[in-house]
Amino acid sequence: MQPSMAPHRPNLAAAYDSEHFRRLGHQLVDQLADHLARTTRREGPVLPWAPPATSVERFPADFPEEPTGDASALLARVIEGSHHLHHPRYVGHQVSAPLPLAALCDFVSSLLNNGMAVYEMGPVSTAMEHNVLRWMAGVLGLPEGSGGVLTSGGSAGNLTALLAARQARAGFDAWNGGPTAGPPLTVLVPESTHYCVTRSVRMMGWGAEGVTPVPVDAHYRLRPEALEETLAAAKRAGRRPIAVVASAGSTATGAFDPLEAVADFCAKHGLWFHVDGAHGASAALSPRYRHQVKGIERADSVVWDAHKLMMMPALITAVLFREGHRSFEAFAQEASYLFTGQDTRRWSDVALRTLECTKEMMALKLYTCLHTLGTKLFADSVTDTFDLSRRFAQRLQSSGDFELAVPPDCNIVCFRHTPQGVPASELDALQVRLRESLVTRGDFYLVQTTLGGRVWLRITVINPLTTDADLEALLDALRRAV
Ligand SMILES: *Cc1c(COP(=O)(O)O)cnc(C)c1O
Repeated sequence: MQPSMAPHRPNLAAAYDSEHFRRLGHQLVDQLADHLARTTRREGPVLPWAPPATSVERFPADFPEEPTGDASALLARVIEGSHHLHHPRYVGHQVSAPLPLAALCDFVSSLLNNGMAVYEMGPVSTAMEHNVLRWMAGVLGLPEGSGGVLTSGGSAGNLTALLAARQARAGFDAWNGGPTAGPPLTVLVPESTHYCVTRSVRMMGWGAEGVTPVPVDAHYRLRPEALEETLAAAKRAGRRPIAVVASAGSTATGAFDPLEAVADFCAKHGLWFHVDGAHGASAALSPRYRHQVKGIERADSVVWDAHKLMMMPALITAVLFREGHRSFEAFAQEASYLFTGQDTRRWSDVALRTLECTKEMMALKLYTCLHTLGTKLFADSVTDTFDLSRRFAQRLQSSGDFELAVPPDCNIVCFRHTPQGVPASELDALQVRLRESLVTRGDFYLVQTTLGGRVWLRITVINPLTTDADLEALLDALRRAV
């Protein structure tokens, strides 16, 4: 310990001591590397299941007054008791098995703590954010002049985009006058939309009718031929429709809406075209699957989570605007810009355009991984997980004792076990019981969803280390658990 440091406060000096940090850091990296080796070898449970009350007891708030010096023992218990997303038999929600390099970047971000409200507080991370966003816009095929921000998740991202859409298309100043300063607004949204879209609309004060649902087809994709009638009905009900939100990868089934048809419809009616690509915009990275997001380059705004298919730890979401300056309008009225006739708003002061004021060095992990590991890794990961999901769907269809909900568009597959002798009326309860049995044992982690009033098992192949053999083992485990 350096004697010059806060000698009258030895605990404080020890807490900031660089040598102590070095020792603990090396130890912690060893612990995490061992954990990574074990879980990727499929050792131990995926989720070490425990009821909430037990977990609460294991981590009580009995904080001592003086240091215990015992961080690594505590962190070992944290690692052991947590959900192990690097386990190749984790096939649950759309949460990534982060690249270890990305985790190290978050470690750097936490120590440097360059918040990003203004350029001076985060010069490097601001520059990285700017250029990562330009790269992402290029991948999507958005034109020159596009731009945006990184924000804390797809939910915040969709709200940001819808706020900008409102400023652009409401026809009145809802930012200053509130939602009642003009006619009531609405957005056309497929029935399959993520709940955060409807939540955003309610947060903006438009109420339940602020969302006008558009019917979906048998594949859970928005039916473009239903748009005209939905628009007319919303107008008859006294609403002013301002936007259509399409999903590039819906949450329940991973369905990709027909973006080109929606783009045509929006162009015809002067509506804002927003694509919720939180999950599936990453398809644009894959030469084999980028056709699924054809038309995304015509969007006015796109949300794209890098913490889903780009192997980043939470959270890092891009909100991209076809006209980059729109991103200033989510959280401001552009009056002063209009009156002075010149745009004095600086792209480099990120907080003008985000929900966050202080923000972590969000771009650091993605920039560093792209820079160090190369872009092909990301393209391959999308291609491989989509391919594997398709093979799994074919396997289900030929199995005789499993039913596939819909052929998968991406890496999300919904299915159910239909063993002989189980009456149709008991199949829903069976899926619930099977899932519970596998998850509490820790063999696999998968989730469930309701489609057409029936319960389905649902997997997301999001860990690039998951193999055909893992999914075959999943089917066997389900059969054995009946
Ligand atoms: C995951 C998801 C969201 C929400 O994103 P978060 O990053 O979890 O906030 C929104 N829309 C879709 C389609 C998603 O898949």
